[in-house]
Amino acid sequence: MNAASSQSSPLWHSLSSEQVLHELSTAPGGLSTDEAARRLAIHGPNQLSPPQQRGSLLRFLLQFHNVLIYVLLVSAAITATLGHAVDTAVIIGVVVINAIVGFVQEGKAESALAAIRKMLSLKAMVLRDGQRHEMAAEALVPGDWVFLQSGDKAPADLRLIEIKNLRIQEAVLTGEAEAVEKSIAPVSAEAAIGDRSDIAYSGTLVSYGQGLGVVVATGEATEIGRISTLLEQVEQIETPLLRQMAQFGRWLSAAIVAAAIVTFVAGVFWRGQSAEEMFMAAVALVVAAIPEGLPAIMTIILAIGVQRMARRNAIIRRLPAVETLGAVTVICSDKTGTLTRNEMTVQRVISPERTLTVSGVGYAPVGGFTVDGVVVASEAAADLLAIARAGQLCNDAVLREQDGDWQMEGDPTEGALLTLAVKAGLDPAAETAQFRRTDSIPFESQHRFMATLHHDHHGHGFIHVKGAPERILTMCTHEQDATGLQPLRADYWHGQIEELAALGQRVLAVAFRTTVETRSELDFEDVEDGLILLGLMGISDPPREEAIRAVQQTRQAGIRVKMITGDHGATARAIATQLGIGDGRAVLTGSELEALDDAALQAIVWDVDVYARASPEHKLRLVAALQANHQVVAMTGDGVNDAPALKRADVGVAMGLKGTEAAKEASAMVLADDNFASIAHAVEEGRTVYDNLRKAIVFTLPTNGAEALVIVASILFGFTLPITPVQILWINMVTAVTLSLALALEPAEANVMQRPPRNSSEPLLSGFMLWRIAFVSVLLVIAPLSLFHYEMAQEELTLDAARTVAVNALVMGEIFYLFNSRYLYDSVLSRQGLFGSRYVLATISILLVLQLAFTYFPPMQRLMGTAPMSAGSWISVMLAGVAVLLLVELEKAVWRRWRSTATRPRSV
Ligand code: ATP
Repeated sequence: MNAASSQSSPLWHSLSSEQVLHELSTAPGGLSTDEAARRLAIHGPNQLSPPQQRGSLLRFLLQFHNVLIYVLLVSAAITATLGHAVDTAVIIGVVVINAIVGFVQEGKAESALAAIRKMLSLKAMVLRDGQRHEMAAEALVPGDWVFLQSGDKAPADLRLIEIKNLRIQEAVLTGEAEAVEKSIAPVSAEAAIGDRSDIAYSGTLVSYGQGLGVVVATGEATEIGRISTLLEQVEQIETPLLRQMAQFGRWLSAAIVAAAIVTFVAGVFWRGQSAEEMFMAAVALVVAAIPEGLPAIMTIILAIGVQRMARRNAIIRRLPAVETLGAVTVICSDKTGTLTRNEMTVQRVISPERTLTVSGVGYAPVGGFTVDGVVVASEAAADLLAIARAGQLCNDAVLREQDGDWQMEGDPTEGALLTLAVKAGLDPAAETAQFRRTDSIPFESQHRFMATLHHDHHGHGFIHVKGAPERILTMCTHEQDATGLQPLRADYWHGQIEELAALGQRVLAVAFRTTVETRSELDFEDVEDGLILLGLMGISDPPREEAIRAVQQTRQAGIRVKMITGDHGATARAIATQLGIGDGRAVLTGSELEALDDAALQAIVWDVDVYARASPEHKLRLVAALQANHQVVAMTGDGVNDAPALKRADVGVAMGLKGTEAAKEASAMVLADDNFASIAHAVEEGRTVYDNLRKAIVFTLPTNGAEALVIVASILFGFTLPITPVQILWINMVTAVTLSLALALEPAEANVMQRPPRNSSEPLLSGFMLWRIAFVSVLLVIAPLSLFHYEMAQEELTLDAARTVAVNALVMGEIFYLFNSRYLYDSVLSRQGLFGSRYVLATISILLVLQLAFTYFPPMQRLMGTAPMSAGSWISVMLAGVAVLLLVELEKAVWRRWRSTATRPRSV
């Protein structure tokens, strides 16, 4: 608990802003760094203690909470009452070892997920020492000044000091989904939380507008910190596939118990065996058939997938996304910054008289201007200076030089305009001081422009506007050339816009008008009409090299890439062509999209890959239309208005760097580097996770199937049990902690991105999987049964020795089948297939050592009822294993042939 919460704090909402500043000893300009450090030492970091973790004991006990384990425990209780102490001990041993493995692995998985969640720490824009700084929200202290804008999450409890149309969604605290309008006037001391309109509470989301507030409470002292019950619970490791498997587990347990009962009854009444012996056989059957290690392996596979994705910059916020990613059929991606580099450079300036070419790339203001190859001196170019000045004043970005390196903070489009202004010889600091900004309308993708109100030292008022050119042209009535004001030549300008856009450049228009001296606020009506156009700027933003490769890769993987951008149609088409999206075909603009009804959109959405001048609402309609076409859609987004589309998409993908908190909260995955290539990597990992889940199942279940078959066959044909219940448990135990773990660590198969997406409605246990499980179960049973009977026929051998051979034959079959299971369909008969995984080789080595101990170590011989084996028997056991390997490879070859001749199924 931090210091602030231990004292009774003032009722901040009822104090005037002056009183708040006085109480917190803070002033406009913010705290000094030293003072902030001092306060941090007193109040502690601005963070909430992590949500209540489940205690270790509870977590351990929960490992036993599984129908499969219950069945085993009941079997142990009954064997105990029958006096079979060794069997009881071994069953309990297996259950406990299994629980320990599950406990340790799940603990690792949970802490890995927690570490990944930490990567998404909250940032805040803070005023310290009179300057804006972006810093981690944990560093905030009472008295700090914090800026809020749409999409932000309030990083602490703030008393609002300045606001502009600020609306905040406070559902976390009040449960009210509708955003509330904020104000700065104090409210009554008795006001309930939802009525304290002058406070922005920590954890609430800014849905519109901007604000500036002073931190009044941090960490546990915040309202959200007090209501600890509302804190996010630790996410359980649960996904649709795991649920599907749990369901399968219940079904399987019931079937196994039923089979055991039938076996018991058949043995006693039909075969005339003793009830006790048959009971032990039924128990053997139960323990044989139950895949007790499988749930843990599946959890581990998912957790490993999440970690691998994080390493490749895709941070999973919702676990089910790991599985869904593998089934994605369409990726809808933003253009700017995701497919392109977001390193903007103004390359063309078009004034009413001429087109200027700008040299230099990046944010370093090194370069000059030419017209038709002739150098232009910017000091004498009034048209250029007017455009550059407007771009610099109507701007929130900051350009800084540090040791010759130019750094830009803010929107890259605006950064490019600052660089242009400096190239044109303007001094941004001096300009800003001369033309003081009084108010602004910030840029939003919906209205596509930004406007600022300025006053010079003589009190003259100016409004500067920049934005998407079609939008700005509708606001303008005139243009200004060297001779003065002229009527606007709309056709001329539209021609110029098309030309710039066709080069793949983002086009921006700048305009201005004068206003009365007394004007201190800027409204939409002020810019609707009567503006004077100054000119256009063409800004280049080249595609990312890795995005070009990733687009190609996703196409090979049968995934359609659609680009959705706020830019002009021609710009969008040019960039899409460079990226290999859309094959130069039709581009649909936002307004064309609006003219279509849902059915019409649904009909064309598959064919159109490029959407220009699109707004966030259009994204929502696109997702819906694609989903109506049975597509599994991943959609990227960054703004607060993208949230509905991100939520609706099968996998919402938010940008980690430029994305708002609102977008991140709405999405299932966050890209740490905002890069399209990371989505492709996540899809690849998602497919690998799904493959590995299937491999683990297809490997584990035949082991159980084979063991169960051995017992059923012996009872039905009246043989002596070739493998005792204790030995069966031994096999289950050693293979669960060795072999199947190797499959959890399998890397992606080479062709994982060369095959079409899986059909998302296909069950995990497909017909193919069931067939493979049944086929291998039978295959694995042949050697143990036949070798057992062969050995039994040898005069000099004991029952123990024959059973040892049977167990080793089964284990060897599994070892060789592990190689088969590395690839579900492809042949493993290659260097890579047989020796490519060190995990496989390592687990096999461990298992071989265990089997040698099982066979030769005297205490084990006593416990397990085993005896040494001859060299000849080992050779037969090895040959039987090799036979399993070859026969499964043969089966795969038949499948491959069948699949290439049959009409190719969508999913493989
Ligand atoms: P996406 O990331 O979805 O591809 P985008 O960055 O291409 O989106 P927006 O940011 O919505 O699209 O920009 C749309 C248009 O608005 C741009 O083509 C440009 O003309 C204009 N614009 C972009 N940024 C600004 C800004 N900061 N100020 C004024 N106008 C801008």
